[in-house]
Amino acid sequence: MKRPALLLLVLGLVAALAAQAPAQGERPKRRKDRCTFCDHDPEVLAANGMSHGPFPFARTDSTRIAEQGLWRPTLLETEHFRILGDFPAWKIPMDEVKAYRAELAALRDRWPLVKEKPGTLDRWYRIHLLGERLEALYDRFCELVGTSDEEFLDPARNEQRGVGRYLGEKEKYEVMVFAEASAYREFMVDTWGLGYLKPQCWNNVDRDCMWFGVNLQTEDIHHDKHLAAVVVHNVAHNLLNGYMHYSYEMPVWIYTGIGHWAERAFDDRFNTFCTIEGSFDVGKAAKDWAVQVRKLVEKDRAASFAQFLRKKSLAELDFPDHLVSWSKFQFLAEEHPQKMAAWLTRLKTRRDARGMPDGRNLDAAQRAAFKDLFGWTLAQAEEAWRSWVLATYPAQ
Ligand SMILES: [Zn+2]
Repeated sequence: MKRPALLLLVLGLVAALAAQAPAQGERPKRRKDRCTFCDHDPEVLAANGMSHGPFPFARTDSTRIAEQGLWRPTLLETEHFRILGDFPAWKIPMDEVKAYRAELAALRDRWPLVKEKPGTLDRWYRIHLLGERLEALYDRFCELVGTSDEEFLDPARNEQRGVGRYLGEKEKYEVMVFAEASAYREFMVDTWGLGYLKPQCWNNVDRDCMWFGVNLQTEDIHHDKHLAAVVVHNVAHNLLNGYMHYSYEMPVWIYTGIGHWAERAFDDRFNTFCTIEGSFDVGKAAKDWAVQVRKLVEKDRAASFAQFLRKKSLAELDFPDHLVSWSKFQFLAEEHPQKMAAWLTRLKTRRDARGMPDGRNLDAAQRAAFKDLFGWTLAQAEEAWRSWVLATYPAQ
C-alpha cells in the first residue's frame, strides 16, 4: 500500500506548486478565489501555522475530494486541524455585530488584513474564524486534561507510549462541512459506507485520525455560530477520544458531558444532542440549563454518579440526563481542575497486564479513580456536586 500513498503525495506536491506559481510572463493578478482574510499571504499563513491546502483528508486528499464531487470546497489547515467544506456567506445580525467585531479585532495582530467592520462574513472569514475557534478549543482541552502540545512532539517518546503527534492520534483532527444533505450522504456512502444524514464522528483507522462531518441542510443550520457550536461539540468528543490514542470508548456520560460543556462554553444558545433517534424529544430543549438542573436536584430527580457509571449507550440517556452530564462535567472540570485532569488521563491510559489498552470495567475504574484522586466515594462525589449546584446555580 506504500506506492499509492507516495503517488498521492507527489500529486499533491505538483498541485501545490502549480497553484503557487503563475505562468511565466503573466502578471500576478488578484485571483477570484483569493482568501479575503489573509490574501493567501504565505508569510502571514506560516506565521500562524496555517495553510489553504491542499492536504490529505478522509480516505484520500482535498484535491481528489474536490474533483470527485465536482466541488470547490474551501480549505484551511491549522496547527492541529484540517477543515474542508462549504461555508456560505453569512450576514452578521445587527445585535451580534459588536461581538463579531470584538472577535475579529482580537485577531488583527496576527492577521493584518482583517476588516474592522465586515457586514457579511464570506467563506474565507467563516473558515478562518472556525479555525481560530477550534485552535482555542484544542488549547482548552489540553488544559482540561493537564497536558500540552509539547508533550507530543518527541517521536521516540510517542512511540514508546503508543501515541501519535496530535494528543495521541497520528494525524490532525478533521472537520468537513457540506451545505447540502444529498452531497453529504453521497460522500458518507462512498467514503465510510454509511448512508447517514446526521452529523457523524468517525475514527479513520487508515490514517489514525478522528473525522467529523455535518451538513447544514439536515441540521437546519443558518447561523455562523450554530455551525461552530455543532463542530465544537463534536470535536470535543473527538479530542477526548483521540487523547492518548483512541483505543477504547469512554463512558457515555463523560462523552456526552464534554460535548455539552465545550459547546455551552462556546455559545450556550446552541445545543447539540448526540442521541439515538427518537430516544427523547429535543423539541423541549430547556433554555436555562443551570435552572433546570437545580430543579432536578431539588426534586431529587437528577441522575447520580452511580447511575451514570452504569450507562453503556447514548440510548440510555434521556433529556434530563444530558443536562446533568453537562453539569457534573462542569463541576469536576471547573471546581477541581487538577484532579479532573488526572482523573480523565487515568481513564484514558488504562493498560492490562500485557501493557495493552484496557477499556474493560470502566465503571469500577471511575469509582477507584474518584477515590484515589478526589478522595471521594460515589456518595461523597454526589453530595459535593449537589451542594455545588445548590450554591451556584440560580433558582430561576
Ligand atoms: Zn486565508
